[in-house]
This record gives sequence, C-alpha cells and structure tokens, in this order.
Amino acid sequence: MLFSIRWRLAASYLILTVLTVTLLAGLAFGLLFRQMAEQERGTLDANASALAEEALPLMTPQLQSEELAQLAFVSSFLGDFRVRILDIEGNVLVDSRPADFSNFVFLERSLENLPTAPPDIWDGRFQMDRMVPGAARLPMWFMLVDNLEDLPDGMRYMSIRRSELLRGYQLSYDTLTDETAADSPVRSTLLVSRTIGTDSHPVGLLEISGAPDFKQQALQSTLEAFLPAAIIALLLSAVLGLIMGRQVSTPIIQLADVSEKMSAADLSLRAPENRHDEIGRLASGFNQMAERLEHSFSALAEERDTLRRFISDASHELRTPITALKNYSELLTGAKKISPSRKREFMLDSHTQIERLEWITNSLLDLSRLDAGVTTLQPTDFSLLELAKSTVEGFILQAQAQGISMKIETEQDCSIHADRRYLELALSNLIDNALKFSNQGDSVQISWKQDQSSTRIEVRDNGAGIQPEDLPYIFDRFYRGKKITIPGSGLGLAVVDSVLKAHHGSVRVNSEPGKGSTFTLILPVGKLPEEETEHQEE
Ligand code: ADP
Repeated sequence: MLFSIRWRLAASYLILTVLTVTLLAGLAFGLLFRQMAEQERGTLDANASALAEEALPLMTPQLQSEELAQLAFVSSFLGDFRVRILDIEGNVLVDSRPADFSNFVFLERSLENLPTAPPDIWDGRFQMDRMVPGAARLPMWFMLVDNLEDLPDGMRYMSIRRSELLRGYQLSYDTLTDETAADSPVRSTLLVSRTIGTDSHPVGLLEISGAPDFKQQALQSTLEAFLPAAIIALLLSAVLGLIMGRQVSTPIIQLADVSEKMSAADLSLRAPENRHDEIGRLASGFNQMAERLEHSFSALAEERDTLRRFISDASHELRTPITALKNYSELLTGAKKISPSRKREFMLDSHTQIERLEWITNSLLDLSRLDAGVTTLQPTDFSLLELAKSTVEGFILQAQAQGISMKIETEQDCSIHADRRYLELALSNLIDNALKFSNQGDSVQISWKQDQSSTRIEVRDNGAGIQPEDLPYIFDRFYRGKKITIPGSGLGLAVVDSVLKAHHGSVRVNSEPGKGSTFTLILPVGKLPEEETEHQEE
C-alpha cells in the first residue's frame, strides 16, 4: 500500500513542497535579514553622527552635564536606544540606561509642588519645547519609567507614552493613569560609536546600542505569517498529491486488474479508454494488443479445429480404399476357392483403389507443400494453347465414354508464365469435375483471355451446377456437395485454389443449379514477385 503509485506521488509532492518552502523561506529570510541589518546599522550610524555633533557644544569649552543628560535621555527615548556619552578618559558622563522603558514622565507645569531640586527618582531636567513644539521654554524634571505604578503615590504628572508597533513605535501625549506598559521589543546587540569632536581633537565618545532589533522582529512577524501559510501549502500539496496519485493510479489499477483477469482466462476483457493522455494511450495500446491476442488465439483454435477435421477427413478418405484393399487381399489369399474371373475382377478393383489412394496422397502432398511454401514453383514461359490441348487429350477417352463433348474455344494462343506442372494439375481437376458433374450430351468448353495484367482461363460446363448452400465451401479441403453421390475426395478444388494462390492468382466460380458451372482461373501476367526478389538479390 505504502509503495503504491498513489502514496509515492503524494509523498513526492510533499517532499517537493517542503523543499521549495524551505528554500524559499531560507532565501527570503536571508535577504530580509541582510537588508534589515544594513538598515539598522545605517540608522544607528546616522543617529550617532547627529548626536555626536549635538553633544560637542555641550562638552566644550565647558561640560554642561544637565543638557548633556537631557540630550542623551531625550534622544534615547525618541530613538528607542541606549545612549552613552564618555569623556576622553573613558569615564561615563551620561548613560541613558537600557532603552526599554516606555514612558517619559514629567511634572505638569501647573503643579505648584514643582520641585526646585530633583528628587532621587528624576532622571534629569527637561526643556519642554524640545519635546513638544510650541510649548513654553520651561525647565521640567523628567524621568523614564517602564511602569507608571512605580511612581510615588499622589504625584501628578504628564507623560509621553511610547507604544511599540510592529516596526517602530508611536508616541502619545497623555495624562497617564495606570495603563500598563507595552511589550518591550527584542533588542539588538549592535553597538555604534562616534568620536565627539574631530579625530585630531576628540573630546569624548558617543555610543548607541540596544536599539530594537528590527531584524528579529521582522523575522518573527514574517515567520508568524509564513508558518501557517507553509502548513496550509503542505496540507494542500499532500491532498493534491493524493488526488493526482488517485487520478494516475486508478486507470493503472484498472489496467492491472484487466490484465490479471485476462491472464487468468477471459481474453474478451478490455481496459477503459476514457482518457486522452499517456495512460489513455497505454490503455488503447493494451486493448489493441489484447484484440490481436484474442484474434490470434481464436485463429489458432480455428486452425487447430481445421487440422483435427483435416486429419479425421484424411484418415476417413484413406480408410475406404485401404479397407477395400484389405478385403480383396484377404479374399484372394483366403482358403476359399475363387474363380479366375472373380480374381480378375478383384485385381481390377484393387487397381482402382490403389489409383484412388495414390490420387489422394498426391493431392494431400501437393496441398501441404503448396500451403507450407515448401515447394518452390518452377515457372517457365509456355504456350497456353499447347497446355490446354495436352490436358484435354488426357480426358478425351473419358469424355467420349460419357457422351460429353469437349472443346477448346479460343483459337488464339497466348504465352503464360507459370509452373506448368501445377497449372496442368489445376486445369485437370477442373476438367475432371466438369466431366464428373455433367451428363450425356452436355459439353465442356475451355477458353481464355489475356490482357496487360492477367490471364483468365475458363472451364465451363452445362452440367448439374452447384447448390447455393455448397458454393461458399467447395474450395475447402474434403468438402463435397451435400447432395453429391458421385465418388470423390473433396480435395480437387482445394488443390486448384492452392495452386492459384501459390501463383498470386485466384479462382472464381459462377454456377447455377441445373444450368452448369464456370470456373475461372486468374493468373497475373509476368514474373512472380519471388522471382523478382531473387533476381534483385543476384
Ligand atoms: P470432389 O469433386 O472430389 O467432390 P472437389 O473439391 O473437386 O471434390 O469438389 C468439391 C465439390 O464442389 C464437389 O463435391 C461438388 O459438389 C462441387 N463441384 C465442383 N466442381 C463442380 C462442377 N463442375 N459442377 C458441379 N459441382 C461441382
């Protein structure tokens, strides 16, 4: 089951999708990461340069600690990163501390209890107009807090709140109550520093670090969107793979079923051919093969039946003269005295039976040789008139005895190219039949016609004719007319047919019961195809 095409296809779809998704994700994440890292460094660099410039006048000629602290804190809050300013000896002048606080809190201007000196918790003094454009230039105390609840009880304050967004943040100016701080973002490990002053006259160092790690954020948010999409893609590909696998495997399974049943017994089964793709072609090829197989098997079965029939017919035909001969020899050699005239009669009958035996065996031999192609014809050019005359001569006595006239109608001779012996045999068989099935006073005519492509030899009699029900079978071996009483073997016309086929010709019959029959031998003019190939090979 697991090794079936269906499952394999589904598995390969799944594997392909996993590979594609992994590759794409790796590529996309890699690109994103690099771009974000470059952006992050760029932003921090720009901020560091700007802050270093702003810090310079606050450090020379005289250190203005309050303003420096304010610069560090405000920029740290607004830039959402940690700012450290160091003097030339490396002492930290101001450190905005980790940047992950979210509230910039300062006292309300209207408050009467504005402290003149900062309490412990305040981070520094603040010029209002730097934070809020248009506000009065009042010094304010400020602090940076994560959680407003940490503020002393009863204290009234204003705050600027920073709410983290997916990328970056937004500021809101509020009178804050007890809202909880937003989740602090993941911080970057990147640290950038700038010399305050010039390289030749440095006055300090400015460091920026702990900025939100947008790379991680972007990666995380992309991953959050990507994961469900990847899972859906995997599920879809598995389902699709199963559907496709089913579509591909179902006709193959059907084909396999049909072939199994066919090999078991039933050759008439066929595979469904309802598809127009490769599998459809496979099914139609398979069906064609099955069709041929079925035909071959039925032809083989038919041939086997014909052979059986032939053997039984041949043995039957041969048994009659053999039995007769056996009886005669028993009588002749027996103890019983036989008169010389009876003996002579037996001898004559035996001779007839031997002739019959000889005729049958010769005909069978001719037939099998011609059919098997064992006999190579020996075609020559000869005169048809001369052949007709010599053949007819052999039957003159018989015809006279029966009171039947025989005539060669065509006076014009023509040359034909054939195996003389076999053509004479065919002609003899036709004349023999014509005489056999004619009555006293009837006539037998032989004639021919030749054109560019064929020679047509006709043997016509006005004898008994052939019954329509016999006509389709008279060329079959051992077939004898159903109502025929005249002795015969049923091999004569079969031999004629084989001779003509060996010459790539044919034999036709036209007959009407009571009116007579006309047999036409059609021979192609010119050399036989075999002779042409032999000639070419030479
Ligand atoms: P046979 O003559 O020994 O019976 P053939 O193969 O020569 O065998 O002929 C087969 C059958 O064809 C005959 O039994 C007969 O019914 C029919 N037939 C052949 N030639 C003639 C003919 N000239 N006139 C009438 N019937 C014929």
